[in-house]
Amino acid sequence: MKQNNQVFDNVLDLIGNTPLIRLNKITSKFKGNFFAKVEAFNPGHSSKDRIALHIIEEAERKGILNPGDTIIETTSGNTGFSIAMVSIIKGYDCVLAVSSKSSADKIDMLKTMGAKVYVCPAHVSADDPRSYYQVAKRLHEEIKGSVYINQYFNELNIDAHYHSTGPEIWNQTEGKITHLVACSGTGGTISGTAKYLKEQNPNIKVIGVDAFGSVLKKYHETREFDEKEIYPYRIEGLGKNLIPTATDFDAIDEFIKVTDEESAHTARLIAKTEGLFVGYTSGAAMQAIAQLNEQGEFNENDNVVVIFPDHGSRYMSKVYSDKWMNEQGFFDSVNHETEKTVQY
Ligand code: PMP
Repeated sequence: MKQNNQVFDNVLDLIGNTPLIRLNKITSKFKGNFFAKVEAFNPGHSSKDRIALHIIEEAERKGILNPGDTIIETTSGNTGFSIAMVSIIKGYDCVLAVSSKSSADKIDMLKTMGAKVYVCPAHVSADDPRSYYQVAKRLHEEIKGSVYINQYFNELNIDAHYHSTGPEIWNQTEGKITHLVACSGTGGTISGTAKYLKEQNPNIKVIGVDAFGSVLKKYHETREFDEKEIYPYRIEGLGKNLIPTATDFDAIDEFIKVTDEESAHTARLIAKTEGLFVGYTSGAAMQAIAQLNEQGEFNENDNVVVIFPDHGSRYMSKVYSDKWMNEQGFFDSVNHETEKTVQY
């Protein structure tokens, strides 16, 4: 059992230094050694704690943020939660403009964490004054002393991972990491971590995980924005319909795409094999590893690190709901014997 007698001053002191956990059963038939960086061990249960704290502390250092000021962002997801948590401890107002597509649970959670939530219509275009982008922009202009986190276009997002996730993985693997596999949404996690790791050893191979329906992989290969790549998909937090400047495409060697269905089954398999209850994109990252293994990417002595970005509890009404899985048709194509609920 882990020993820890340290008393922390507040919850923010627990951000970062997440464990690297060896994967045993799920990778038993794969070539190589596999380790998961489990970001659910952050107090806000995701890697977004790192960027919320880093971006806010950088603004403090630059004198942009002062006690009582307001922090603005446009997400109902992990970043919103992390900003709300940091704001509570540091005494800022947190304003989140979110889409009306966000679940009531998510909105309630953010309100519980002290955030002021503006629910904006989902069906309007990004340049409509009612869209959550425009509402956030307007609030930023109107509220004196406010800071707009803007995670997709804020290079401090990369910086946060360059200064924390990268060095942690390097030290935890004692420099023996050969591959990094990480999901790309804003791209901050993979870009910052890759940049640090490649400075230590340029031979480390960095593989980004993208969704079918997202433009990132194609953009990486051609440096052209191809609208034809875009269509709806279910995994939240992975891939994008625009090119974020928080992604350093030169730091990534290749992208691999994964499907909603295989990622969902793989997320459930991580829980059943490793006892790790992690989010949908962790399933996507693990699915990418299975595909890479199939392609012969790994050798026996390779040390592959995969980032699991968040906790499974945020997906109870989605990937961890049998009802939802059935509604998506995800139980139809394969006989998932272990997925069936035993009735007494
Ligand atoms: N997984 C989840 C659940 C996320 O919310 C995000 C962030 N959008 C990612 C993965 C991708 O991380 P990043 O934004 O740093 O690329």
